[in-house]
Formats: sequence, structure tokens, C-alpha cells
Amino acid sequence: MKKNIDKITIQPLPHFSNRGVLADILRLDLLHPVVSGNKWFKLQYYLADALDSGQATVATFGGAYSNHIVATAYAANEMGLKSMGYIRGEIPEKYNSTLSQAMDYGMELQFIERNAYRDKATIMQKEKLPGVYCIMEGGYGKTGAKGAGDIMAIADTQPYTDIVCAVGTGTMMAGLVQRAAPHQKITGISVLKNHLALKNEVKALLDEADKEKNFTILHDYHFGGYAKHPAELIAFMNTLWLTERLPTDMVYTAKLLFAVQDLINKDYFPAGSRLLLIHSGGLQGNNSLPAGSLLF
Ligand SMILES: *Cc1c(COP(=O)(O)O)cnc(C)c1O
Repeated sequence: MKKNIDKITIQPLPHFSNRGVLADILRLDLLHPVVSGNKWFKLQYYLADALDSGQATVATFGGAYSNHIVATAYAANEMGLKSMGYIRGEIPEKYNSTLSQAMDYGMELQFIERNAYRDKATIMQKEKLPGVYCIMEGGYGKTGAKGAGDIMAIADTQPYTDIVCAVGTGTMMAGLVQRAAPHQKITGISVLKNHLALKNEVKALLDEADKEKNFTILHDYHFGGYAKHPAELIAFMNTLWLTERLPTDMVYTAKLLFAVQDLINKDYFPAGSRLLLIHSGGLQGNNSLPAGSLLF
């Protein structure tokens, strides 16, 4: 798959840098228009595994708006693998843009009613279809974390004292923790409401030594829950665009940026801190907003 690794830049955030703290953002959203942000990093070793082990199909799971579903469909297609997506919920009357894109990239979709979807791991194991390589929802797993760790090597991340990222399944965060240097702290902003098990889910992907590293997850910036986007958040995204020329997505990165601004203003980061935020992509998720909501 052709990736624009050389387009990834570190963008300074001048309006965030105050109270003795400097903030920059790593623009992984520029990697690829479809497989953007952290999704490629998380998928890379899974897809290589599928190819190496001679499996013809990758199967994965997600909600109807899942960036991971589209990314998997596209990347698998590019690598000559078939793909199957198990989607949580009833068959919709009309497919949204995420689902139609996934279909355009050749993914075969199967809808699973919500309760049955919860048993998805069991379904995966039970089905064990020959020739099918299964990837957990959101790419969760050690192989995904290993891939996400490569984000730390995409630019010179050494000068930063703090890496701050949005957290869904915690796979990306686990990868960042694995590759963090001893002087670095990783802070994750959860986009889920009260999902307090998240820290243990991150830890489950780490070996014993990495569990002792400096990392924390904050739970106060979900704006009502996963994919909830009150008017205040949309207004913030437009302000960010006007002041920093930074496009964000409403599910993950807008909440990350809001959190960081708030935390800097509350002196959460000691003076002298150098922050690297991770722009983990996901901009296509904004397509489900009414036209004209965003200035970018
Ligand atoms: C999927 C996604 C995340 C969450 O990554 P996890 O590894 O599941 O925590 C963060 N940001 C964006 C834009 C995403 O699409």
C-alpha cells in the first residue's frame, strides 16, 4: 500500500503553548486519505501475518461508523486479501459512508444483533473458518500494539516529555507506552464514558517491565460518550481550524485537543513540559455531520 510517510509532519500549536508548556502535534492524519492515522500502524503486522500464514481473508469487527472497518477493507484489498466485516447492529435501511466505502473496497459485511455481537470473541473462535485471519475490534491485541509502537519512530520524539493521545481500545496507547523512553510520560484521553477498565485493557497488552512505565488515562473528556458531539465540541473544532489550521475529527482528536488545552490551563503539566500530541486521523468520520457544520 502506498503511504505518504514523508508527508507526516510535526506541527507546532502556538495557541496551546503557554504557562511554560510547549505543545506540538504529530500529523498522522496525513499518512493516507483512507487508512489514516493510527489505523495503518495498528494493522500492519496483522496483515503481514495473514499473508505470511497463507490466509486469503481477514475478518474483523466494528460499529457502523468504525474507522477500523474502512481501514481494514482498504488495506486488505490493496494487499490482495479478501475482507469480511462483522458489524454491530441491525442491517441499516441505507448504508452510511463508512459502510459503503468498506463495501466499495470489497469488504463483505455481516450484521450482528447487539447482544450476539458481545459474544463476538467466542464467535470468532467457534467459526475458525479455514483461510480466515481474525482481527479483534479496533485492532486490539499485542500485534496491533507492536505496530502502533512504530509511531514513536516516525519522527524525532525524544525531545518530548509527554506524549498525549486519544484512546478507544487502548491499542495505540499500549504501543506508545512500549516504545516510550524513561523520561517520557504517556497520557491517554478516553473517548468512552466511564470505561474505567481501560487501564487494565492497556496493561493486558504490556509485558511486566512496561506496566511499570509512566502512563495514565483521563476519563473526563468524553463529551457525553463515544461519538457524542455537542455543539460546544463542533464550535471548538471550528476555532481550532481558524487559530491553528488544524482539522480534527469529532470522535477522537477534537476531544484530545480540548482536553490538552484544558489541562494546560489547569497547570496539569509542569512548566517546562514539552508535549507531543498524536493526531490519530479519523477525519472521514466527520462525513456524518450535517453539511456546513465545519469550516474545513
Ligand atoms: C481508532 C482511533 C483511535 C483509537 O485507537 P485505539 O488504539 O483503539 O485506542 C484514536 N483516534 C482515531 C482517529 C481513531 O480512528
